[in-house]
Amino acid sequence: MSKENKKEKDGELMGKIVSLCKRRGFIFPGSEIYGGLAGTYDWGHFGVALKNNIKQSWWKKFVDSRRDMYGIDATIIMNPKVWEVSGHVAGFSDSTEDGKQFNVMFKTQVGAGEEATTAYLRPETAQGMFVNFKNTVDAFHPKLPFGMAQIGKAFRNEIAPRDFIFRVREFEQMEIEYFVRKDDWEKYFEYWRSEMLEWMEEVGIDTSKVHELEVGEKDRAHYSSRTVDFEFDYPFGRKELFGLAYRTDFDLKNHQLEYIDEEKGEKTVPHVIEPTFGVERTVLSLLVSAYTEEEKDGEVREYLKLKPNIAPVICAVSPLLKNKPELVEYANVKVFTPLKEEFGRVMWDDNGNIGKRYRRQDEIGTPFCIVVDFDTLTDDMVTVRDRDTGEQERIKVSDLKNYIKEKIQ
Ligand code: ATP
Repeated sequence: MSKENKKEKDGELMGKIVSLCKRRGFIFPGSEIYGGLAGTYDWGHFGVALKNNIKQSWWKKFVDSRRDMYGIDATIIMNPKVWEVSGHVAGFSDSTEDGKQFNVMFKTQVGAGEEATTAYLRPETAQGMFVNFKNTVDAFHPKLPFGMAQIGKAFRNEIAPRDFIFRVREFEQMEIEYFVRKDDWEKYFEYWRSEMLEWMEEVGIDTSKVHELEVGEKDRAHYSSRTVDFEFDYPFGRKELFGLAYRTDFDLKNHQLEYIDEEKGEKTVPHVIEPTFGVERTVLSLLVSAYTEEEKDGEVREYLKLKPNIAPVICAVSPLLKNKPELVEYANVKVFTPLKEEFGRVMWDDNGNIGKRYRRQDEIGTPFCIVVDFDTLTDDMVTVRDRDTGEQERIKVSDLKNYIKEKIQ
């Protein structure tokens, strides 16, 4: 393919993803009825479900399944001193088109009238962890190495928000601050590098499109002594997906925080390895990884090949015909209701003919479509259609829960 053709194709792909997201209720432009607001997007029902599944998978792997990780949920508006000490007031800037430095932190006011003080919306979740370092140590007495984890919103007044949800002004981060002894930092840097890649595989990011970039000194954030960016081949180019930074003892030292290392019998300032993940960029890389077009009998089938543990809808239930009360009753009482109670993310779909329903569910990325037909009424079996192969099998209604449970493990 020539360069121009590739560019056009990539642009088309991005357009298709954006319109699918809107059409199917994943992502809408922010404040759309008032003409929108640059760099903001609102999340529809399936977008919220997708984000929730991503965050759950992340929390399960990095917090719940570990013994050395402590969760925190700190405020978005913090004492402004935090951002002075962290270096963000002085150094969290970007250059405008005419070369002027512009601090990208959003300012706001706390309190009224003359008492009002300027505060900031946090531009990263990391500081919420550092300022609770002492609280966490006092409450849980963790031994080194240990980590703190947080999922939450961050805000940046980006000069040029662009590329759909890639660069927005309000986004969500999933971050870990992992505290280690100084001499161990390289070992844990490598460790987290592979943990990050493992999670990307687990959620279904196409890792053949992921590339590691050793960030040079002049491009690194002010707090970092080493950074590896995980870049992704988006349709608009190879750009950052996640980052892994060695923050040294920069933050704890600036906040004048210490740790008593009982094993070594000394006071110390731990060093920090920081794996950081953006939720929006996870969604975007997943959409790009999952979007598939397949031509069959002259027709193009569009579908999202999302993993069952991440897909917003795990299965859709349909009565073959919506005007046959016995089918509707069976599908609702014996199939939909028990599955909905068990899995939550189950959709009732009786709109249009079966072909239309399959196409709709393909675009949502639903791995299984379950159809109740006239045979079901006598043999208690349903047709389960697989999203990726299009193959259909007959399954006993009583086996459905286990069938689906196995697929989402
Ligand atoms: P970039 O160079 O793309 O501006 P960054 O290096 O400033 O990103 P970090 O400060 O490392 O980003 O932020 C950590 C993570 O937060 C990023 O890896 C990314 O996933 C996410 N992120 C940062 N800025 C944005 C944004 N404006 N919109 C969406 N996600 C973002």
